[in-house]
Amino acid sequence: MPKRILIVEDEPSIREMVAFALRKADMDPVHAADAHAAQMDIADKVPDLILLDWMLPGMSGLEFARRIRKDEMTREVPIIMLTARGEEMDRISGLEAGVDDYVVKPFSSRELVARIRAVLRRTLGADENDQIAIGQLSLDAPAHRVYANGETIPIGPTEYRLLHFFMTHTDRVYSRPQLLDHIWGNSVYVEERTVDVHIRRLRKTLEPFGLSNLVQTVRSAGYRFSAIH
Ligand code: CA
Repeated sequence: MPKRILIVEDEPSIREMVAFALRKADMDPVHAADAHAAQMDIADKVPDLILLDWMLPGMSGLEFARRIRKDEMTREVPIIMLTARGEEMDRISGLEAGVDDYVVKPFSSRELVARIRAVLRRTLGADENDQIAIGQLSLDAPAHRVYANGETIPIGPTEYRLLHFFMTHTDRVYSRPQLLDHIWGNSVYVEERTVDVHIRRLRKTLEPFGLSNLVQTVRSAGYRFSAIH
């Protein structure tokens, strides 16, 4: 299901640009020019994420963010605030209002889409019922299954945990000690090279599907999972 993203922005050109970028990224954008119109959209269907302009006619974006957080129905909906330069100083009030992230204007659509994906991953990552998909790879957490192009991938339990961690924490470098910490917890008997062994196995698992290059070695730093090469 494409993620429904509500864009609340009074500037028509920005609204159009953002909606276009989101559609291209397989998301389902809906838009509203002010808080009142946004409220009606939300009443119609609660979105998966709200992109909220800071300066809106009528109720400000900040005030609207507070209202979204107070409402039982929308309390959990992630919010990314769109701010102009100079409004950055108000980030603290935004954080207090429960905003998840910021994008400062002017922004590229590529940056915006990346931020949206990161926030969605962060907020959905904890949800065990969620399906995580990156490129042709998808992971069904409740079923503990991994698919490439819809075909089941046979995977060992440690490789599965490693992959699950990577798929919910993409595009970031993790050192071996960090991966040990996240995947193995506080097991005292696991050495750092164990990480390399399981990374190798994970690559081997993904190789027949042409996906082993998702697991990237970052010299003298660690490993990164990314669809960008
Ligand atoms: Ca505005």
